[in-house]
Amino acid sequence: MMAQFLEIKAEYRDALLFYRMGDFYEMFFDDAVAAAEALDIALTKRGKHLGEDIPMCGVPVRAAEGYFLTLIRKGFRVAVCEQMEDPAEAKKRGYKAVVKREVVRLVTPGTLTEDSLLDARRHNFLAAYSEVRGEGALAWVDISTGVFHVMPCPQVKLGPELARLSPRELVVSEQMEAELAELVTDIGASLTALSPASFDSTAAEKRLTELFKVGTMEAFGQFSRAENSAMGAIVEWLDITQKGQLPLLRPPVRESADGAMQIDAATRRNLELTRSLSGGREGSLIAVIDRTITAGGGRLLERRLSSPSRNLPAIHARQDAVSFMIENSAFADALRDDLRKTPDMDRAVSRLGLDRGGPRDLTAVRDGLAQAGSIAARADGLELPAILADAVDALRGHDELLDLLEQALVADPPLLARDGGFIAPGYNADLDEARTLRDEGRSVIAGMQAEYIEQTGIQALKIKHNNVLGYFIETTAKHADLMLSAPLSETFIHRQTTANAVRFTTVPLSEMETKILNAGNRALEVEKRLYSVLKDAILAQSGPVNLAAAALAEIDLACAFADLATGENWCKPIVDDSRAFEIFGGRHPVVERALRQQGGAPFIANDCDLADGSDGADIWLLTGPNMSGKSTFLRQNALIALLAQIGSYVPANHAHIGLVSQLFSRVGASDDLARGRSTFMVEMVETAAILNQADDRALVILDEIGRGTATYDGLSIAWATLEHLHNVNQSRALFATHYHEMTALSDKLDGVENATVTVKEWDGDVIFLHEVKKGAADRSYGVQVARLAGLPETVVARARVVLEMLEKGEREGKVGQKALIDDLPLFSATPATTAPMQAKESEIENRLKNILPDELTPKEALALLYELKELE
Ligand code: ADP
Repeated sequence: MMAQFLEIKAEYRDALLFYRMGDFYEMFFDDAVAAAEALDIALTKRGKHLGEDIPMCGVPVRAAEGYFLTLIRKGFRVAVCEQMEDPAEAKKRGYKAVVKREVVRLVTPGTLTEDSLLDARRHNFLAAYSEVRGEGALAWVDISTGVFHVMPCPQVKLGPELARLSPRELVVSEQMEAELAELVTDIGASLTALSPASFDSTAAEKRLTELFKVGTMEAFGQFSRAENSAMGAIVEWLDITQKGQLPLLRPPVRESADGAMQIDAATRRNLELTRSLSGGREGSLIAVIDRTITAGGGRLLERRLSSPSRNLPAIHARQDAVSFMIENSAFADALRDDLRKTPDMDRAVSRLGLDRGGPRDLTAVRDGLAQAGSIAARADGLELPAILADAVDALRGHDELLDLLEQALVADPPLLARDGGFIAPGYNADLDEARTLRDEGRSVIAGMQAEYIEQTGIQALKIKHNNVLGYFIETTAKHADLMLSAPLSETFIHRQTTANAVRFTTVPLSEMETKILNAGNRALEVEKRLYSVLKDAILAQSGPVNLAAAALAEIDLACAFADLATGENWCKPIVDDSRAFEIFGGRHPVVERALRQQGGAPFIANDCDLADGSDGADIWLLTGPNMSGKSTFLRQNALIALLAQIGSYVPANHAHIGLVSQLFSRVGASDDLARGRSTFMVEMVETAAILNQADDRALVILDEIGRGTATYDGLSIAWATLEHLHNVNQSRALFATHYHEMTALSDKLDGVENATVTVKEWDGDVIFLHEVKKGAADRSYGVQVARLAGLPETVVARARVVLEMLEKGEREGKVGQKALIDDLPLFSATPATTAPMQAKESEIENRLKNILPDELTPKEALALLYELKELE
């Protein structure tokens, strides 16, 4: 057995080998050590190899999924090695023959399908990146739903695209592994390197045409060599991990690189689109706006939010669908009731395709199609906007498959096909007959019990069943003698004696048992066959079923956006081709929700009107003290633009937004210790990325850029950055800073305006009004904020003195530091109490100096300690 283990393991060096032994998966050697630690399970040993103990650990097969998940999360991959024959078969080959085993699957982050391992509302993408003769392409697939996409992608764009998709796993050729490692770790994906041969574009094309059973890939569009290569690598990796059992992939769809608003990884993080800065979904934009009901709807929302559109007709069509649902709220409510009963058809079909499904996947498709039919019927006779009309069309025409599934299946089937009991009575005559025989047998046996009680006169006699003996007759031990002697012993054959009971069988009982068993087995066999028939019927229709699932997701999302807009009082934004950026009464949905939950002050809505109608930059320079609401204001405007371009209503009273092509958001010097770069370096790298990429259609949000370095450095960098944005990038931008000096720029640069978040000063404290107004802040209030934060009163007082001096120095034309040194009494705030304390310390020191420890007796030493203590 060890020889077999080592042979298989040699092929899967990078994975933990889960070696099936009966009801357990066992791991050996280094695998066992690593797995025991990662899973926190006991490490034991078994036998010896080359004279050394073999470390071993194991997990029960029925609980294996949970362990897979833990291991995958910790960055391992798992090779699942199954027994390929009954151990009885192996015995026939000889007493020492080892059961045949094979790896049936390699579990990696990008190739999961089990519901328990996946987040229902998120896609689980596997991506591949390839370069052929300097041209790059990115392909990605979600094997739990079958969607398959590809797009041209030069390497400079790879980062933002990966940030958008956030795949769990990226496949690249070995040659690119080192180059892309950091990028891939940054987005939290796992990197898989395959040999360059797996990326060969000619072989890829062959692989793809075979998979999709077409003569040429042109059937699906024009693909470049790089695109074919990336898609081919994905198919190759699926082939390796699924051991030839390829998932049901949909034909590849080519995405154009310029169809979506570009948002890089830093911006996504910073705006907390799908995850909050602390890492979870809680506190992110998606958590606040997600009102979808189905898992498919949730995934669609995530997809849209990750790539807002730049296509005006598409945006308008989506807005129309939402408006329709708002205007027809009773209709929308009825649809939402149907959607609540709609299971995840996409994932059910995908599991069936991989042969990892069960009866509940059959009923998921049945129930999904039934709700599809009901929704289509509700829409009858309504004049629907285009997106909804198309969706409803996709919901129709499934009657044949639905009829079949409805007739064949019971309402609530068991989980596993091998347990039987999922085919409805009356559907198949053979099955009915076998089941009747089986059930009749059971009632005959129940009748036998009465008969035997009468025959023996033992009232406590019972017929029972267990897995070892099958059916048996049981009496208590005190009747044993009676049963074991004639005449009863002629009928009752002794089987077993336990502490309290004696067990028997009879010829008619075992005959009946055989009948029941045979009938039961026959029933199971028929059910298994019917399972395959139904599965194949669904797979034959997988295309239309997937389309129906996509349509349900689209309807769900339109209803969800309508519900959100009505419930939160959002408005329909005007999105057009202009350069407008005009928002009245804008709010930050996440901060607003948080304030509401805290039950304190309400959120203050604010306006933002960037564009002056002319070409060139439109920039607001926002000043105001910390905590006044600058970041909130900046981000809310970015989020409003983004929400508008995913087709949603927006949190404002009125919004007019000219299409945004790229969205950038940066915050000065946030901590990024994890990546081991200095915070200031990160800040500068990120700012450089904006200045190099932003165009006149971009929306740029810069929050306290330059904060991470010394004042004059910071101010100069912020200054130069703003000038560059204005003169070169000519973007629309919001720029928050605490450098008041910068407000002077608005006089110099056209299209730069000052704005400030107002505060009131009252009794030495500041009160934040959170109101954004045009104009410059008169002062920074940093000292007051420090006081609010609980800095000791002495420090605050000292800071006031320093500040006054600095300001005076500035007025009198001295450079800041010079003024300080000239005019400021140093250490004036040193508390008076410190002086005597220092004197005492030196007295103790004096005393200590005169001690010669070597000459002290223990008693003297103790006395000395007391003396020193006195001096303290
Ligand atoms: P800054 O960037 O100026 O330091 P923030 O934008 O982080 O300030 O805002 C600080 C806090 O003020 C927020 O956490 C929020 O509770 C509150 N706040 C911000 N904007 C508003 C607003 N428009 N209405 C009400 N409260 C707000």
